[in-house]
Amino acid sequence: MSRLLDLLLTRDPAQRTRLEQAGLAMLVMASAVAAMVYFAWVGVAPAGPVTMWSLGTLDGMLVFFALIRSGLLRCLAEPSLAVPQMLFALTSGAVAYTLLGPGRGAVFPVVMVVLMFGMFVVSPRQMRWLSVYAVLLFGTAMGFMVASNPRGYPLAIELGHFLLVATMMPAMSLLAGRLSRMRHRSRLQRAELAQALARLREHTTRDEPTGLVNKRHMQELMEQEHQRCIRSGQSFCLAMLDIDRFKPVNEAHGYSVGDAVLRAVAQEAMRHVRVSDMLSRWGGEEFVLMMSDTRAALARGGLERLHQRVAALRILHGDAAVGVTLSAGLAEHHAGETVAETLDRAERALQDAKAQGRDRIVVSS
Ligand code: GH3
Ligand code: MG
Ligand code: MG
Repeated sequence: MSRLLDLLLTRDPAQRTRLEQAGLAMLVMASAVAAMVYFAWVGVAPAGPVTMWSLGTLDGMLVFFALIRSGLLRCLAEPSLAVPQMLFALTSGAVAYTLLGPGRGAVFPVVMVVLMFGMFVVSPRQMRWLSVYAVLLFGTAMGFMVASNPRGYPLAIELGHFLLVATMMPAMSLLAGRLSRMRHRSRLQRAELAQALARLREHTTRDEPTGLVNKRHMQELMEQEHQRCIRSGQSFCLAMLDIDRFKPVNEAHGYSVGDAVLRAVAQEAMRHVRVSDMLSRWGGEEFVLMMSDTRAALARGGLERLHQRVAALRILHGDAAVGVTLSAGLAEHHAGETVAETLDRAERALQDAKAQGRDRIVVSS
């Protein structure tokens, strides 16, 4: 059943919505045809013209469905063909009105349903023109019938019908306008919500001053990488980096200069990691770098480059140019180990680097 629907309505969501709408319209018109056949059967409407009308209406709706389904109209501004479909259905309704004689009142609810379909898809401007068309069309049909068959369509009754159509159509346009404004508002609200969500996500995953990934998000990313490596059998490396003798920088130049140094170090480091690597601010003047799909020897090469670039960096402050160095501990993840255990080894390697005199990289065995 679902495969049949896929075949009939396609899997493209936009196309599917159009075809569902056209299919529903086709069902409404098919019910109208059934009502017409009933009226012919009970002798209210002439059988020959009703047969012609029924075939014409059903064929027309089928042609619309086939045109939309073919996908040939996708380049049109309005591939749903909503306006042409409504023009067709209104015209078909007006013809039915001339055939139905005493049963003609049945046409009005069908016309209303046709216009209600349009309210969801066409613009208020199009809806206004459709209403004008409907008033003129039914006015003409009524006038024609009063002239050609005054016994079946007396002037007094047709005048009443016309007044009804002429007042209901503007009301439909008004409703269509309100609906369209509601649609517009809800689209705006959805867009605002998506923006707010993106901002919130940015807020909860980034460290504000440096723009790096924050500790909590980094823990998630490391866990994801760990799971990926368990599946693929690949390896990853973690490095813990710490700015050397940062407290004296703060003491000599002030905390705000310290902050500027921290930001500059983060940005410089960020420029020299691979796109697949992830650098996070772990806290204070400490960073954790994750290098995916890499063994220790290769990771060390990348880390050396980063280490040299940071050492070469000078942050200007008044007449002084402040420079800092990094110490780093590097650990390759061992199979069967947890992320926390790998990180512990990286931290111990960092402590070794500090103990050996700083400004260096130590690889955990
Ligand atoms: P080392 O790591 O080489 O052993 O010495 P250190 O002086 O860098 O280490 P320590 O852990 O003793 O001090 C870290 C200092 O980093 C303490 C604090 O003044 C400074 N710090 C931490 N976070 C920030 C920050 O966000 N901004 C600034 N300006 N300073 C920070
Ligand atoms: Mg520290
Ligand atoms: Mg430090």
